[in-house]
Amino acid sequence: MSRKVGKYRAKRKFDKTSEPSGSGRAAQGGTRFVIQKHDASNLHYDFRLQVGDVLVSWAVPKGPSTDPRDKRLAVRTEDHPLEYADFEGVIPEGEYGAGTVLVWDHGDYRNLRTSKQDDESMDMKSSLDDGLVEVWLDGEKISGGYALKRIEDGEKPQWLLIKMDDACADARRRPTSTQPLSVESGRDLDDIATDTEKD
Ligand code: MN
Repeated sequence: MSRKVGKYRAKRKFDKTSEPSGSGRAAQGGTRFVIQKHDASNLHYDFRLQVGDVLVSWAVPKGPSTDPRDKRLAVRTEDHPLEYADFEGVIPEGEYGAGTVLVWDHGDYRNLRTSKQDDESMDMKSSLDDGLVEVWLDGEKISGGYALKRIEDGEKPQWLLIKMDDACADARRRPTSTQPLSVESGRDLDDIATDTEKD
């Protein structure tokens, strides 16, 4: 079991929620990302990057933008287990993060940061400590370079999620509005909630 997701486990009762417990041994290696739309008390998008054997996570109230002029608040949350990347369902009322979760986008990412000294790629943990993450996303809805910049540390560190100005930038797109469905199941939030009730 990964001790690294202790905070994640402490917040949840796994006899109540269908979220993964993080107690299994997930395949390591690879660099996946996932963006989960989460209809909790406040609707937000959870942006997660695989770093080693966890998903480093931020809650983004407005979700990602494809316009480089937008700076989207991203609040760093607890690391999640890798299995969470496939989780879609309903977290029951009264439980931590209660509400419907939909896999809004996913794919692989590449780390774009290089260290100034030798031009070698900077490892993700150093980028996180440094408060600047730059990644190239290959998703189904979202692609291209994105930067995450820490603007305030503390209990709930605040970062900004910003589209980098590259060929994938597009100020006219509004993917959170025009492409609301799950990339995993094609369902919308209501479908997932209804399907869960039927179970
Ligand atoms: Mn969330």
